[in-house]
Amino acid sequence: MESIHIKTVDPISQDLLRSAARRGIDLNWERYEKQQPQDGFLRTGLSCPYGCLQGPCRIDPFGRGASKGLCGLERDGMAAALLLRLCVNGALEAVNMSGKAGGSAVPAWPSALAKPAAATLKKLGGGDLSSAEIFAGVAALARPAEGAPALVRRALRLGLLTLGLAGVRPSRAAKKPVPFSVGYGVLAGKAATIGVCGQVAPDLVDGLLTAAKASKTAVRVVSLGSWIGGKALLPMACTSAEAELVTASGAIDAVVWGPVAGAAVPALCAQLGIPAFVAAEADAKAVVTAAVKAKAKGEKCLQDDPAVVGAGEVISAETLAAELKADKKAHLAVIGGVDTLQSPLGWLPTELPPALAAAKCKVASWGDAALWMAKRGFAGGNPGVQARVLDGARGALDAIDAAVSAGGLSRLRGIAFTGLGGSRDLASALGAAALGARVCVAVPLPLWGSSGTRDALAAAVKSCGGSFTHFDHPATADEVRAWFIKR
Ligand code: SF4
Repeated sequence: MESIHIKTVDPISQDLLRSAARRGIDLNWERYEKQQPQDGFLRTGLSCPYGCLQGPCRIDPFGRGASKGLCGLERDGMAAALLLRLCVNGALEAVNMSGKAGGSAVPAWPSALAKPAAATLKKLGGGDLSSAEIFAGVAALARPAEGAPALVRRALRLGLLTLGLAGVRPSRAAKKPVPFSVGYGVLAGKAATIGVCGQVAPDLVDGLLTAAKASKTAVRVVSLGSWIGGKALLPMACTSAEAELVTASGAIDAVVWGPVAGAAVPALCAQLGIPAFVAAEADAKAVVTAAVKAKAKGEKCLQDDPAVVGAGEVISAETLAAELKADKKAHLAVIGGVDTLQSPLGWLPTELPPALAAAKCKVASWGDAALWMAKRGFAGGNPGVQARVLDGARGALDAIDAAVSAGGLSRLRGIAFTGLGGSRDLASALGAAALGARVCVAVPLPLWGSSGTRDALAAAVKSCGGSFTHFDHPATADEVRAWFIKR
């Protein structure tokens, strides 16, 4: 527990971590520590991703063991193929999220980005972009045939597809800003509390709210780190990586979990005797009844303080562009993405905004990074920093759209991803760089086993007018700040 400050910057979270440790409850941080060191071959990109089934072959990153796979594949081809494999997955996720999984999906570029996207495609080579690109990528991963530069170009095309598919669904703030709140204060008081995590269908959320309203006992519905809702978002108790911590705090009386929630929260509920319902089968009235019943027995470890709430509003690319147009001297600095356990939770999103505001940047954000900014008062209420929050499903796309609409990519200082929630985030980051943006990813990528692949990626992105920076370690706040300041 002496290392607790390197787990999260939030003092209340630190107290809850100590409380969970005293009660012998293992959370995501303990699992992370027990996984160290993680697979060094995979982390450096030197575990073969081809589907040949002769392997799995691995190449020794230090040159002391195997330098080629069984078939003669060398490190550059292996690392580039892994990058392509990840981008194939990312594009598939993007197609699924776009709601077009049943047919051909094509990017929906905001009008300001149609020309830059066409120019990028020309530079990368190949025809128009659609979900057919994914099949071509899969075919290229059947057996080694193409060299690293060709595989990297395919990965960038899939990145561009992923970014463009984010435009298929309109921003949740397309018509007007959508307010949100986040922090432990949303759990204050005596109401029975239902926590919702993962992608839960809006109909079920509406049903839960209706059933909660009809209950004789006070019941509320909160989100455990997911942005859930339409016109109004559910109050968020925490960021995504804190969902287990809040569940273990005794403040949650029932949990409903959707497809991307992972296995940990339901397993924790089983351990602690908290009623948990898989969203696909949940009945709203039964969930409310279970929460009321559980509330009678439960004990909270969390001190009530309704003031511990941050607030903000989600805005559209158009609103952000208008603000940039009104302030011609400001440059946009974007810090978005999900929590990662590789750095203290909240470190980058709370350290960077003041420094960037002092450098005359307008800060924008999305995802967990935006929640941390709101918790710190940077998304409203803090006169020193006024970070603007974008729809998490299309954060990078909206940031680039706003900058180009406000005068060009020179208005965009850069987009820094604090963490990657999965392959879709990686593909989007690559797509943003291919579209001409300066992009930085603060968590290590599986590219450090091959300088040839890194060089091929840097060259391909440069030819499109963008840049892509990544580190062989979790980046510090100073490193990301320096990246923003140095152009
Ligand atoms: S493609 Fe080559 S390196 Fe990869 S698993 Fe098959 S034989 Fe091994």
